[in-house]
This record gives sequence, C-alpha cells and structure tokens, in this order.
Amino acid sequence: MNKPRITLLESLESNLIDYLTGHPDGHERAAIIFFRRLSRPVKNLPNSDRYISVDTIPFDEKWINSSSASHIDFDLEHLREVFRRCEEEDLVFGFVHNHPTGYAGFSDTDDCNEFNLIQAISNRNGLDSKLVALLWDGKQWHARVRNAQSPHDSIPVRHTLVVGKHIKIYGYQIEEIDDKHASARQAAAFGKPFVGMLKSLRVIVIGASGTGSPTTTLLARSSVGEIITVDNDKFDPTNINRVRGSKTRDKGRNKAEMLAEFIKDIDLPSVEIVAIDALIDKSPEAVDALASADIVFGCTDDQIGRELLLNAVYYYAQPLIDVGLGGDLDEDKDGNPYLRYHFGRVSTILPEYGECLFCQDVINETWIRTEFELRSNPNMSDEEIKAKYLQKSGENAPGVGPFTSATADYGVAGFYNLIRPYRVLPEELRNDQILIDFVYMSLSSREQKNNKECPYCGTHSLLVKKEKYRLNRPSLGKPNDNN
Ligand SMILES: [Zn+2]
Ligand SMILES: [Zn+2]
Repeated sequence: MNKPRITLLESLESNLIDYLTGHPDGHERAAIIFFRRLSRPVKNLPNSDRYISVDTIPFDEKWINSSSASHIDFDLEHLREVFRRCEEEDLVFGFVHNHPTGYAGFSDTDDCNEFNLIQAISNRNGLDSKLVALLWDGKQWHARVRNAQSPHDSIPVRHTLVVGKHIKIYGYQIEEIDDKHASARQAAAFGKPFVGMLKSLRVIVIGASGTGSPTTTLLARSSVGEIITVDNDKFDPTNINRVRGSKTRDKGRNKAEMLAEFIKDIDLPSVEIVAIDALIDKSPEAVDALASADIVFGCTDDQIGRELLLNAVYYYAQPLIDVGLGGDLDEDKDGNPYLRYHFGRVSTILPEYGECLFCQDVINETWIRTEFELRSNPNMSDEEIKAKYLQKSGENAPGVGPFTSATADYGVAGFYNLIRPYRVLPEELRNDQILIDFVYMSLSSREQKNNKECPYCGTHSLLVKKEKYRLNRPSLGKPNDNN
C-alpha cells in the first residue's frame, strides 16, 4: 500500500470546513492548505508519504473570477506568492474546495484545475513539486496527490486522518465483512467500517517486552495493516512470564525480531509486520520508521525513549498511547515480599489534546538526566546517584504477566476508543490518563496540571515544526526528504 497518507489537525480542519461551507449564497469555495511532507523509508514496508497539515489560507475574493454552487473559477496569477512560500519553507501546496451540491467525488473540472495548478507550481518550483487536492463533499474528505513529473495522473490516498480529540478516518478501502470474516466479531462491536479503518493504518510499537508484545499481538489480530516493532533488547529467560510468543530457547535473541516472527506465524494475510533491532533515541532508521507511522504506542520503560516519543507527537502529528507500570514492593513482618502498591498507566496524548508526559509526571528532567548518567556509568551506586542530585524514575515495576498484559489491553482498548469512541468516562477519569490499580482494584487519574506555559502541551509550539535534523536532534542526522 504505497499510496500517500494525509493527516489534518482538527483545529485547522474545522476552520476549513466552516469557511468552505460558509458562502452566503451557498457557492463553492476554495482554500490553500500547506503540508509538510514526510517521506521516510522503512525497510520491508512500501514507501508511503505522509502529508501533515501546517496552515491554510482561504482564497481571496480578488482571486476568484466567478463561482456558483457547482463551480469556482480562479486566476492562477495570484498564487505565485503562495508557490514562493512553498519553496522557501519546503511545504507542499494543497488545493482544497467543496461541493455544496454534495457530489461525492472529483469532477472533470477538478481534473483540469489540478492539472493547471501542478503545471504552474512546477514552472515556479521545479519538477519535484507535488500537489495535494482535497475535496469536502459535505460529509467526507476526498484526497489525491499529483506529481509534477506526471501531471495528468492523480494518485488516490490511502486515507485522510483528522486528528483531534479522537481520530476520524476518511477514504480508506471498505472491506467486505460477512459472518465468516476473521474480523466479524470486532465488526459486530464497532461496525463494519472499523476493520477497513484499521487496515489503512501504520502503527509503530516501541518496545517488544511485557507491554509491547501483547500490544503488538492484539494490533495484528485486530488487522492493523502495517505494524513496526522496535526493540534493541535481547530475550532473557526471566522475561518468559510476560513476553507474548516467547520460548525458553529464544534466550539471547532480539525481542522485536522474535515478536515479528511470532506474528508472521499467526498467518494474517492482510497484516505486514517488520522488526527493527534498535534503541529509538540512537537510531535514525528507527526514527524514520516512527515518522512514517500514523499512530505510536510507547511500551518502553525508559525515560529517554519516552521523551523522544513525546516530541514525535508534535513534530509528526501523531497520537501517542504510552503505557507503563509502577509500583513498590515491601516486606511483611515475616520478611516475605508483598506488593505495597502496583498500577498500570495508559496515557493518550494527541497533538492538540491531552497533557504531555512531563505534565502527567511520567517523565521529568532529573529522571532523564539520571538515565543518561547511568548509560555512561551503569555501575553507579544509589549513593553516587544521590550525591549527584540524580534520581531514578518513579515507574519501576516487578514485571508480572497479568499486570503488564492487562495494561497493554487497556492501551489497545483506548486505541479503539480513539477511532470508534465508545467509552463513557465518569467525571473523575481523564481521557488522557487512566491508572489501573492492581492492588485496590480501581481506576483513577491524577490531577490535571493545566500548565499553559508547557512547551509541549500548553503552547503547542512544537506542533508541525520544521525539522533541520530528525526531531531537531543533530545526533540523529538530517532526514533524506529535507535535503
Ligand atoms: Zn470540484
Ligand atoms: Zn505539558
């Protein structure tokens, strides 16, 4: 499925629809939408560019020669300035219009307009130019892409995602689902379109151990079309109680590769899975795979990795479902260990909704610094850590199968809820954070911080920021689509 994919941020999308459908006489309207194009390769998966919305400009009245409920005619001359901005800021030009009549598809006139537009863009900006065409028919988005090198051909997209509080998916391939279909039970709960929606998605899971392996397995079994599993860790026999698909003889093997092999062996014809043996913050290859995904699961237990995934939420306009476990062991008076407290956590962070992992107290600067210190000095004692004003992260869990597995289940259920909202949360629970208490058997959320100054979730200043280096970290090198 090497068709391109479109991601629209909901704030921009809803303004756009208001504008398009707001003509006083019900005429067609048009607007420009700027996209960042992410064209990051993933070994053994088809290339599929992601176009992420950055900004829109409604057409000025002066640009329009005539319009009605079924046409809009405009002068290309006025768009030169916009083409210049595309070149200067390395953005892709998108042309958006609507069909007030409800005609649910691109028309011959649209073909003609797009051909003229891509010609004009390539005259100004060269033969590598692209054009994204978006159409709102009153109910749905339709989208397609043109390359300057073959201006007559339009390439249909795999889907258009609108990422807000939830994820709306348009333009995916509809699946025929009958009672015998592998996804029949799932379709019974969430509707037949649900399966086609999941098939259109590329999901990356960082971590292939206690929470990552059940998460990835469930995603595959629910027929997510493309799955990437990333882990640099080697399997140890003490992992056997919680790693799905693992065997005692796997000792020393890479966990991501084991997991991909296990899932391939399930034999799900519509699911592609690839494994990357890498540590996410050190691997340009893994970060490219991350950038190529529609949705991210954070199943790592390290602060450094989590901080990187948090950045990706904003740079790559990706929903992040981060799962983790925390707890504390104590000893009773006879010297036997017992779980004083133990919880699973699911944080759901969307580009425009939800508090970031810093504000949720899942990561903090001291814990991150401590991990970096421990990497260069793994034998640092607790005293040395204290003396350096460092501290180990609060989330440390003993690694018990049913707890890791249950937390992963909640994470995947939350993913379904993003796509097909079904949850009715009591007032005390937050959409962006659910804690599952395994000792006292309750669900809760921590109090919200509402930090308006937070550079991640408060100011949204990182949202669709241009990358000079991958995630603007020189250590990760420059992405190839930005040269
Ligand atoms: Zn049209
Ligand atoms: Zn924040």
